[in-house]
Amino acid sequence: MSKVWNWHLGRDMDYPYDGAFPERQFAFVFNINRCIACQSCTMACKSTWTFSKGQEQMWWANVETKPYGGYPQAWDVKTLDLLEKADPGGQVWRGSSGDDPRSPYGRYDGRTIFEARQAILSPDSSRVLGYLPTDEEWNSPNIYEDNPVGGQGIPRELHKTGESLPIHKTWFFYLARICNHCTYPACLAACPRRAIYKRPEDGIVLIDQSECRGYRKCVEACPYKKTMYRGNTRVSEKCIACYPRVEGKDPESDGAPMETRCMAACIGQIRMQGLVKMAPDGTWAEDRWNPLYYLVHVAKVALPLYPQFGTQPNGFYIPPRWVPREYLRQMFGPGVDEAIERYANPDRELLAVLQLFRRSNRIIYRYEIQEGPKIHEGEVNGRRVTLYNDTVIAHGRKNEELFRTTIEEPFHVRPAAHANSI
Ligand code: SF4
Ligand code: SF4
Repeated sequence: MSKVWNWHLGRDMDYPYDGAFPERQFAFVFNINRCIACQSCTMACKSTWTFSKGQEQMWWANVETKPYGGYPQAWDVKTLDLLEKADPGGQVWRGSSGDDPRSPYGRYDGRTIFEARQAILSPDSSRVLGYLPTDEEWNSPNIYEDNPVGGQGIPRELHKTGESLPIHKTWFFYLARICNHCTYPACLAACPRRAIYKRPEDGIVLIDQSECRGYRKCVEACPYKKTMYRGNTRVSEKCIACYPRVEGKDPESDGAPMETRCMAACIGQIRMQGLVKMAPDGTWAEDRWNPLYYLVHVAKVALPLYPQFGTQPNGFYIPPRWVPREYLRQMFGPGVDEAIERYANPDRELLAVLQLFRRSNRIIYRYEIQEGPKIHEGEVNGRRVTLYNDTVIAHGRKNEELFRTTIEEPFHVRPAAHANSI
């Protein structure tokens, strides 16, 4: 095992290979507060990549209702359980979040899936703690859709009188998921044929179909269960991050890097994907005006999914405001309270950056803000709020302007001729 720095954990971590980092890394932020589970993302991916024979139960992109839903069923609970069995009571964090981008969430003292495996088995056995889901667990990709926790004594009954923030007693939320194109991929670590590789140009993790022999070690190892076995070809497949689009080879892109299909299709405008600059130690190099860098490292509203697994995933989530914090801390680590506090009380810059989501399908490399006039003064949750109609401008790879948008969205008045007659 090698020692690699895992900035989500704020410490060195054991990993079967030395760290090797791309110049830029495929990464994304999903704002859970806005997802409506329309499944447009799921279907955009399905109709692009997994519509063929043998892929019927294969969903590289999926949206599941938490806490009961999961694809495959209970993937996260099962992995958390394995970690707990291997290291009872060990999943604890200490220290507080700070400004050091090498340890923004404090330090995780528990074992990761790489370290827990090493502790309970001989060094030459399987390299990663994991499990192989059953066929039944892959069968129902949207099981328990919209089933809430709580209710008034009757399981799964909706609240009669409504709920209010900060925390709902009856709750669920939608968790949109794709492969995280992890910095320390468990799928890659587990593959005995070295058929899985991470591209040096963008960190996208791919399976070489000609090298794969269908051992399913990657399916067993990925804690997010984002590699899938295809029975008729007998090889595993996974999300390829729509790499032709990211490379600018989509016919619509004129050579400019474009976001993936699932991002582009998002009706709720919850998704933003980009390519972040990497430092030589696998952390994100400072890039103050990159919107993903800003959301993760400056505003700190977006957090990694189950950082304790140890793969250093490159998918980040703005956690849902209404969900019990304990549940969210288990899912996104100790940065949850700070992230929700900032998201609920956004400053001028955060408000502007949130307007960048889904205004274009081109990848944003840089943004700038032009200050505008004051448009509102008032009180929200006992706090004074002043709103300015700032303009936020997005730039692409060659620093060209992609679009500009304002805080205040324009009103569109439907002409009488088209009045809604339903
Ligand atoms: S999410 Fe799973 S499949 Fe994707 S890179 Fe990470 S370990 Fe591999
Ligand atoms: S398209 Fe967007 S809003 Fe709709 S389910 Fe997917 S992530 Fe959620």
